[in-house]
Amino acid sequence: MTIEEVFSETGPFKKANPYYQPRSNQIRLSEAMQETIGSDYHLVSEAPVGTGKSLAYLTPAILALNGEQSRIIVVTSGITLQEQLINKDLPFLQSTLGKHFTFGLVKGMNNFLCRYEFEEAQRTKTLYSGNSRDQDEARAIESWAATTKTGDRTSLPIVPQPHMWERVSTSTDQCLGDVCPKRDVCHALKARKQAAESNIIVCNYHIFLADLKIRMESNGSAGILPTAKAIILDEAHKLPEISRDFFGFSLGMSAFSNVRRRLKRLGYDPNYDRENIHTLAEEFFEGLHKYMSSYSYKAYLRAPKPVSSTALIAGINNVTKFYARELNTTVSSLESMNASSLTEDQRALRKLTLRMVEISNQIQSAMNLSRENTVFSLEDSTPKPTKSKPRPTPMARIVARVIDVSTILGNQLFAKKTPIILTSATIRVNNSFEFYNKDVGLQKPRELAVGSPFNYQKQCFCIIPDGMPDPKDPGYQTAVNEKIVEFTKITNGRTLGLFTSYKSMQSAYETLIKATKHRVLKQGDMPNDQLITEFKRDVHSILLGTHSFWEGVDVPGEACSAVIIDKLPFKHMDDPLTAYHKDTSKKFFDNHYIPNSVIMFRQGIGRLIRTATDRGILVILDPRVITQRYGSTFLDSMPKMYWSPESQHAQQFMDGMDPEQIVG
Ligand code: SF4
Repeated sequence: MTIEEVFSETGPFKKANPYYQPRSNQIRLSEAMQETIGSDYHLVSEAPVGTGKSLAYLTPAILALNGEQSRIIVVTSGITLQEQLINKDLPFLQSTLGKHFTFGLVKGMNNFLCRYEFEEAQRTKTLYSGNSRDQDEARAIESWAATTKTGDRTSLPIVPQPHMWERVSTSTDQCLGDVCPKRDVCHALKARKQAAESNIIVCNYHIFLADLKIRMESNGSAGILPTAKAIILDEAHKLPEISRDFFGFSLGMSAFSNVRRRLKRLGYDPNYDRENIHTLAEEFFEGLHKYMSSYSYKAYLRAPKPVSSTALIAGINNVTKFYARELNTTVSSLESMNASSLTEDQRALRKLTLRMVEISNQIQSAMNLSRENTVFSLEDSTPKPTKSKPRPTPMARIVARVIDVSTILGNQLFAKKTPIILTSATIRVNNSFEFYNKDVGLQKPRELAVGSPFNYQKQCFCIIPDGMPDPKDPGYQTAVNEKIVEFTKITNGRTLGLFTSYKSMQSAYETLIKATKHRVLKQGDMPNDQLITEFKRDVHSILLGTHSFWEGVDVPGEACSAVIIDKLPFKHMDDPLTAYHKDTSKKFFDNHYIPNSVIMFRQGIGRLIRTATDRGILVILDPRVITQRYGSTFLDSMPKMYWSPESQHAQQFMDGMDPEQIVG
């Protein structure tokens, strides 16, 4: 069956759904993806909301499968899309395409009960520590753990508090893997193995990049995911940012606590504590917090040795030497030693010693600023107050981010023969893929941008209100608040307010709750997914959110009849990478600042029209889109739609008038 036949008026999609209508852009996209799967090149594609991107790539992926061992990897950023693929799209294709295939989701370790941590928490009685709510949850976890076959958190009948789940789970970094005494009954490893044997393997970017890293470090001899015929990277606009974090590291006091806890279990604590490493580490991270809070620190580490790490590093060296001797080797030979003759405990000790070496190297690289292509910054990581420690010591953690990931991704991912499809609703800046390709190290990919299936000139109307002060003006926030009240009256609630800062959102919220009869939902009041569900359910409600809401809201229908943007979404100058680029690049503004903001801006606008029957107004309160030179880059990147500076035109649009007539 060809792509055209599958998507045609007489094809399987139509037979399964009488309301199905072929979409020419979806077919074009799918055909280009099919060609790529059988080729030796990569495709970067932009397909706006409503194109039907997932069916466009899953269909040729499934048609290309030839046998049990044939695999295609699909990578997504968000859980919502993963759930859509696993629960809706792939089962639909299984029942309609008439081709047998299997699919599975490779989840992160922390989605599963870790048998090792669980038994440790039981043995040390930490599982039950805390208040009565904690103890109720501990009982529920314990009884579930006794019967669960999958260990998957979603099968746990309660939603545990994050700190309770932490007691019985682990992360990919912390997992003991092949030296774990519980590996034969490990839920995460079993699920990962099953999913990786499927034909269509869905995973997130962290797992995909972890696999890439393991392959890099093992020269391709190890990995999490199997070799695939093709790789599809959906939500590909997230790849650069996730990669910058992933190939860096984050190091705080918890790294020391984890090592100590595990060493203790092996009976090595006395030797470890002889060097007082835990205390030295606490002093070090406390010192970093003091430095971070001083005037000397601005966004990222600019000079070496802000705090002395000499005593801590010396202590770690002594301890790692001691453990290496325990294993009859030296620290420098630990990595390459033959571990097959070691006992289980010795292998665990080797792993923990290597982790301490890594921690030591990470601290030294940050304190000496000796890691190339990296920006180091400090973030607050003060532990939460507890009954026994109501005033915990303030501490910071070190965050290392890679500045330029184009070489890593270019060499390790795109230089390989496997064809890769990168796709997103917002990947271009000013109608060009150039910025993106350069950012991720893509050399001469095929490019395809398909048009939107929506008629923005009919379905949408944009207001850029006259008379708004510049965002630097002290009266800006008051003007924003007044406009939000005005427009939510016109739209009768049903508004998503997108903010660039928590402070601005809070200010608008406080004004709105006094001025509107509608329910106002605000980020932070409940988990994001619950807020979105409430926003959908309570049609006249107003939802206010910052960063994650610019991308994560999918509310078709009248509940989202307006999107209001408080400011152009520029990164703050206290963002470490933004500050670094500003300090070091003459072309910072054009090469980093504007393109990244345009992508975010387009994501925000994309929240408004989700189906062909949606109608709504877009309100941009930031006058810089008109008054500044760079404003045209934002305006030119928007879908074509009519706009006006006059608020009453929003009322006319909401009353049903055609945009062309309004501005006519
Ligand atoms: S291998 Fe061990 S440490 Fe890792 S998740 Fe499984 S049980 Fe936990």
